[in-house]
Amino acid sequence: AALSAGTPAPPPTPHVFSDPAEIGALRRNLLAWYDRCKRDLPWRTLAATEPDADRRAYAVWVSEIMLQQTQVATVIDYYNRWMQKWPTLQALAQASLEEVNELWAGLGYYSRGKRLQEAAKKVMSELAGRMPRTAEDLQKLLPGVGRYTAGAIASISYGQVTGVVDGNVIRVLCRLRCIGADSSSPAVIDQLWDMASVLVDRSRPGDFNQALMELGATVCVPKAPLCGECPVKQHCRARRRKLFGKPTPVPDVEDCGVGGCPLCPPAMEPWDSSLGVTNFPRKAAKKQPRVARTAACVMERRGCRGALEYLIVQRPSSGLLAGLWEFPSLPLDQDLQGEKEREVLADHLRAWTGWPVVAGGLRFVGEVVHIFSHIHQTYVVYSLTLDGDVTLDPALSPSRWVTEEEFHASAVSTAMKKV
Ligand code: SF4
Repeated sequence: AALSAGTPAPPPTPHVFSDPAEIGALRRNLLAWYDRCKRDLPWRTLAATEPDADRRAYAVWVSEIMLQQTQVATVIDYYNRWMQKWPTLQALAQASLEEVNELWAGLGYYSRGKRLQEAAKKVMSELAGRMPRTAEDLQKLLPGVGRYTAGAIASISYGQVTGVVDGNVIRVLCRLRCIGADSSSPAVIDQLWDMASVLVDRSRPGDFNQALMELGATVCVPKAPLCGECPVKQHCRARRRKLFGKPTPVPDVEDCGVGGCPLCPPAMEPWDSSLGVTNFPRKAAKKQPRVARTAACVMERRGCRGALEYLIVQRPSSGLLAGLWEFPSLPLDQDLQGEKEREVLADHLRAWTGWPVVAGGLRFVGEVVHIFSHIHQTYVVYSLTLDGDVTLDPALSPSRWVTEEEFHASAVSTAMKKV
């Protein structure tokens, strides 16, 4: 049928999967490899053995949220402790945010834990403890659950036939189909979601999705992919192009042969043969992280039990590191230097504690750099020894004295542990 005006043209054939025989072969090859090589992970065991659908969905959900910005190797231990402490949604809904932050401490991107717990409460209070049963409803009804997480939970826990696209899948699909346009652009992302839904295996959607992500994590890795061992190499156009030098099946024209193709590498940055398959995916240049300096003061005193104690205060309940505890800290203006920094910090501590803190009493300890996703943060660390009790104005922010051991068990960020 003729396309009506306004309907977007289908993407050029080199960038899609359209041959049913090829799609069938790719599914079989990928799943056979997954069955042979998949990593043994605690959430996979739960997803395969837990008979209750709500518990299964919860187990997958927790793993997906933890894995969002953190490596598998780091997540495993956190995941096991979490599931032991809160094996069900009901249990999690009853936990306090403080407990959640304590268990999450060190995993980074702390709002993830908080949102998970809020969502569990919502499922208990508004959905009668029942997890939504489709990707669409999961995304619509659960705070913090986006399109990817919803698709992962629904395909892995319920067997819903729906594709998923995460960073690993983006890389694999862009290589399989020589997609060299900016992979973070909406046009490319839409195209990849369509492709994932075309490819996903009809009878084992959860395994297929995990297989595609696993392939990206272990074989089709960013820098030096192991193409020789790849189970889908015969379907990979990037590899073919690397081996034969020209894109097929349009050998006499650059790239896919369609002038101004929205999925090919931009004309200004064509295929670079020294890069091989790592020509794909392409990303627009990253924004430079913001540079920030913060003064942090480790205040210590000899506690009544004789052990050294340190003062920590709680951050506001929203924003970066919401609700976590830290040493009293003060963001610094970029142009402050040396002695000025010390004076500003002393003023701040004096106003805040009511103690006659003078700049000369602050001992400079050193500087600590910590990279948050979008901030290059330098902590300028000072210490101050107090020889009496300090009462702080509780209206300003909650605070408490802790021993070193208690400090490590508190909900403190990795940055503060470095400090
Ligand atoms: Fe990735 Fe290489 Fe496999 Fe292509 S052949 S999907 S580039 S590992």
